[in-house]
Formats: sequence, C-alpha cells, structure tokens
Amino acid sequence: MTAFWTQPDYDDHETVQLVRDRASGLTALIGIHSTHLGPAAGGTRFWHYAQPADALRDVLRLSRGMSYKNAMAGLPMGGGKAVILADAKGTKTPEMLAAFGDAVDRLGGRYVTAEDVGICVADMVAVAARTPYVSGLPAEGDAAGGDPGPFTAMGVYHGMKAAVRYRLGKDSLAGVHVALQGVGSVGGGVARLLARDGAKLTLADINRDRAEALADELGGEAVETDAVMGVACDVFSPNALGAILDDEGIARLEAPIVAGAANNQLARPEHGDALVARGVLYAPDYVINAGGIISVALEYLCRQDGAPCDINEVRKRIALIPDRLEDIWRESDASGQSPAAIADAMAQKLIGR
Ligand code: NAD
Repeated sequence: MTAFWTQPDYDDHETVQLVRDRASGLTALIGIHSTHLGPAAGGTRFWHYAQPADALRDVLRLSRGMSYKNAMAGLPMGGGKAVILADAKGTKTPEMLAAFGDAVDRLGGRYVTAEDVGICVADMVAVAARTPYVSGLPAEGDAAGGDPGPFTAMGVYHGMKAAVRYRLGKDSLAGVHVALQGVGSVGGGVARLLARDGAKLTLADINRDRAEALADELGGEAVETDAVMGVACDVFSPNALGAILDDEGIARLEAPIVAGAANNQLARPEHGDALVARGVLYAPDYVINAGGIISVALEYLCRQDGAPCDINEVRKRIALIPDRLEDIWRESDASGQSPAAIADAMAQKLIGR
C-alpha cells in the first residue's frame, strides 16, 4: 500500500486526521495544511465519493487551497478543510454532525470549520452545539455572518470587472457576454450582480430548471451543461466543479477571460501555462473566490473578541480582491509566468514555504 504522504497532493500538511464514529456512522477527513498565519480555516464538504482515495485527494487539495486563499486575502488564518464521506443516498443525521463537531473540538481550535458544498447554515448551527471552532453562523442584526455564498459572489463580481478592464479595456460590464457554468449559491449570485450591470448572460446548470428559471428572471439564455464551456463569449465563469480546466476544457474555450468561484479549477498546475498559450486571462480561483472566507474569518475573529462583525469591514476587504488580481496579472505579463504560477509563488511566500 502506498503511504498517503507520498502522493502528489500531499504538500507537507501539518495534520491529516481520519475521523470514524461507529455509533453515528460518521466517516470524515480533516486536513490542516498550514497554521503558519493562524488557526486553519476552511469549510466542511459533505459529498459521496466513488472511492475513499478521492476524498483524501479532495481534502488535501482543498486544505492547501485554503492556506493559499487565506494568505492572499490577508487574513490571519491558516488553511484547512474537512470532508464528510456521505453514503450514496447522502444520509446526513444530527448524530453525525454532533460527532463531527466533537472531532473539530478535539483539535482545540487549530481548525475552524464553516459551510462548503453539501453543508448549510443549519448544519453549522448543529456543529456549533459541540464546539466553538465554527463560523458561518446566522448573522444577528446588521452584523456580517451566515452563508458565505453571497460574499463569494460579490468578490467574483468585483474580480470579473477587474479582468474585463484589464483584458478588454472596458470599465463597464454593460453588453459584456458572460457564460456561467453552475448557477447555485455563488453562480446565481454572480449572475444577478452581472444582470444589474447589463451584462449578456448564458447560463448552464445540471439542474436545468434552475438555469432556465434564472435565465427567464434575468433575461439570459440557458444552454446545455456540455455546451457552456465552448460558448463564444467575453468571460467564462466556472461556478460548479473543480478540475474543468484540463487539456480538453482549455481547447474548447472561446473566451479571452476565465473568472469564477469554483475551487481547484486547474486540473494540473501546467494548465495555468496552457491558458496563457491560448491567450486566456485567468483569475486564480483562490484569489477571486475569497469573499466567503473573508466573511467567515472576520465573523469568527469578531466572535472571539465578543464583538459583532461589521459588514462594511467585510465589504471593504472583498473590494481589495481586484487589486490583488491586477498585481498578479501585471507580474505575469512582466515575467512571462502564468497568473496561476505567480499567485502560487506569492501565497507560498506568505505561508513561509
Ligand atoms: P452550490 O451547490 O450552491 O451550486 C453549484 C451549482 O452547480 C448547482 O446549482 C449544481 O446543480 C451545479 N452543477 C453541478 N455540476 C454541474 C455541472 N457539471 N455543470 C453545470 N452545473 C453544475 O455551490 P456553491 O456554493 O455555489 O459553490 C460553487 C463552487 O464555488 C464550488 O466549486 C465551491 O467549492 C466554490 N466556492 C464556493 C464558495 C461559497 O462561498 N459557497 C466559496 C469559494 C468557492
């Protein structure tokens, strides 16, 4: 058997913990990639994996991504992530969430969890009954907090505007054609913000009804999921799955910009160079999609101080995402290295690697 720390996605993670709770049937993995900048923060994914090895790969890639994301967002947080291995039916019980909360608690604050795919605010409230190392809890009054999705959408929108300005020289999104893959919590939010600015929208989702309803509401066009990557447009915005920018995906692109929220969009690091070779400006995923973790982290840090989290501070920090992207693109243009490689180098330096 190959030791997991010899596989490519293991990147000197500080801790990788397998959690098994026989009574509830919980199986989970918690990855702490780095606590160099502070407690490792990152959400919990609830997902049915075809193979356990896929779950391990996911937690390793996602927790490293969180180290990079938190560092590049200027947050005093390290990077971690958890995955709960769901059965084929997606059975999720209060007992499983309680056992998961106990496991997070045993880490004593080295890992702070929140929502990710398959986990909602109510699930985090259940986890919070067992541990204080939780964020993304319902906001009180005007304070920031709760579902990170709308904050992620806000950051993607600002980042996309920056990309359109940088590559197309346009200050407005009016008439700019954006094709969105996935219109769930984040993609749907991005589409609404774009519609407000008069962008032309093409929407695709495996939940076809969702894409059609949003297209009707916002005046866009819904297309099949297998067609959206090849739509001739100004911006392709991935907001569903990771690893879509592989050889085949990149060859199909008919857009000069890729800017979206999906985590781990590049199938392999060299696909950052493949995008440059095709003349595509790429907004590194963990930089453009940091809005949610900015909200989650500030909410957590404020709660530690016993103070409400000022939503304007969250907005102010999200508004800095375009500046970071522009720094990356400028350095990429100057050095000839891809934006993905430049962002990785910046993030690694920040986390002392
Ligand atoms: P979500 O589950 O609310 O939405 C995802 C949508 O994608 C769903 O509508 C789903 O039907 C659709 N989808 C799934 N497979 C698809 C496919 N092959 N083609 C087209 N559509 C497909 O999730 P979300 O919270 O909106 O997150 C979207 C992506 O952004 C994920 O990769 C997530 O990891 C990433 N992300 C989310 C946040 C956040 O704050 N929610 C933060 C950072 C990154």
